[in-house]
Amino acid sequence: MSRWPQHSGTDSPQGWHAVIVGEVKHGHLATRAKGEPLDMHSHTPAEQSMVGMSVITLDDLSVANITTLLNKARYIDTHRREVAHTCDGRVLATLFYEPSTRTRLSFETAMLRLGGQVIGFAGAQLASVTKGESISDTLKTVSNYVDVVAIRHPKEGAALVAAEAASVPVINAGDGGHMHPTQTLADLATLQSRFGRVNDLTIGLCGDLTFGRTVHSLIETLCRFGNVRFILISPKELRTPQYVLNRINATPSCSYEEVSDLTSVIGDLDALYMTRVQKERFFNEDDYLRLRDTYILDEAKLALAKPDMAVLHPLPRVNEIAKDVDNDPRAAYFEQVKNGMLMRMALESSVLGDTLPGFDAFENKEVAA
Ligand code: ASP
Repeated sequence: MSRWPQHSGTDSPQGWHAVIVGEVKHGHLATRAKGEPLDMHSHTPAEQSMVGMSVITLDDLSVANITTLLNKARYIDTHRREVAHTCDGRVLATLFYEPSTRTRLSFETAMLRLGGQVIGFAGAQLASVTKGESISDTLKTVSNYVDVVAIRHPKEGAALVAAEAASVPVINAGDGGHMHPTQTLADLATLQSRFGRVNDLTIGLCGDLTFGRTVHSLIETLCRFGNVRFILISPKELRTPQYVLNRINATPSCSYEEVSDLTSVIGDLDALYMTRVQKERFFNEDDYLRLRDTYILDEAKLALAKPDMAVLHPLPRVNEIAKDVDNDPRAAYFEQVKNGMLMRMALESSVLGDTLPGFDAFENKEVAA
């Protein structure tokens, strides 16, 4: 099967990053407070401040940070008026070099609902990139205008390049087939609300596990919470990349199985994460057409699943979930959309250092209870 050239010869995200326009020489971006030097090898301490941080993958946040974001999102949902001026005077830029509906609109709605404002572009053809401007120059420019940037780009590693150039926090809104950390925040919030936890679960991930960046981010992060059994369901051409499998292998409390048949495993799952075959990352239309309808979840297949299994999907769906599933109480994908906005509100306010009025008291009460 034909793939994007940057995937050939490497299965490591570092390899992917190195492809990016020669603008970055190293792999992972360690997070840093504003103005502090980059430390490419640092590990995130448990209780670090999120203020000024760029988020390229969720490895940039500690588990404690992610848990705080989950709590903040829950608080925001029930205290919309109280938080409506949290980011007064702030400006977010959404730089979207690739199509998006939910991600861009929810980043923007999140800032508007916190009292801030939004600028940006959707579609690279509208930006100076068509005149040959580099990502770095765009970010150095935009850093003068705004307080925080959300960037989506078709190339793996582009968000990392952006964060290195910017002097404001940069949030990765999807970099090619690599990572999509804020989708993972939405996924975690949905698992948390369905099960009251994000671990001790058997999770099936189904579809395009090669190019599905949401899958890579989710696995990476669930491994940090631990105790997850992953069932990786894909055709052999769309298997999970080795660097993601290595992550599971390096986590003693997690395990995985790779299978190609959904019906034979669906009964074991607590959650089923369906994905779209990523048409835009194929070279060859015939391969896409051959593989796109490999899995279609419908009510007949759901009849084999547990009565409380949760069906997640990062959306957009093409054919992989039949419409009749939408009315099944197990369908959680539109809840995920709402959770995405709430988690982005939590993240944007946190990296800006803007305190959600009333949240500390709410959290202390929760801890005491
Ligand atoms: N919206 C998700 C993404 O941007 C999933 C998808 O496009 O299939 O990766």
